[in-house]
Amino acid sequence: MERTFIAIKPDGVQRGLISEIISRFERKGFKLVAIKLVVPSKSFAQKHYHDLKERPFFNGLCNFLSFGPVLAMVWEGEGVIRYGRKLIGATDPSKSEPGTIRGDLAVVVGRNIIHGSDGPETAKDEINLWFKPDELT
Ligand code: ATP
Ligand code: MG
Repeated sequence: MERTFIAIKPDGVQRGLISEIISRFERKGFKLVAIKLVVPSKSFAQKHYHDLKERPFFNGLCNFLSFGPVLAMVWEGEGVIRYGRKLIGATDPSKSEPGTIRGDLAVVVGRNIIHGSDGPETAKDEINLWFKPDELT
């Protein structure tokens, strides 16, 4: 069954949005198969966002993620990668649709509260980066 990596970023954790975000995935019918709070090192954050290393905001983004804690999760279900991104909404919360997590709960791109894998390959890589096989149910 299809799986994706979802993380509530430090701003989402600090703002007390964990239960709000988890309940949106649960209510849709997706299944939570792994979950843990992590304070990633900066080099771990750089690995997670390696695709963005040429972007001007890369350093700030990795610093921010490494402040932690981050709630790392794996969710399972039919179409969960694509649909999870729909639940999350557009990268820039000022352009995310109302009804999406970022659209309803965030305002600026640098503090957009949640991450979701953007395709099958990144989902596989990110799940393997954040979780050991025995942490997955
Ligand atoms: P994520 O990978 O976190 O789920 P995304 O796939 O919607 O987000 P990406 O293009 O992968 O968007 O960007 C990764 C993250 O980098 C964004 O979620 C955001 O936190 C940050 N980011 C993207 N663009 C900018 C920007 N212009 N300024 C500051 N931060 C940015
Ligand atoms: Mg991305």
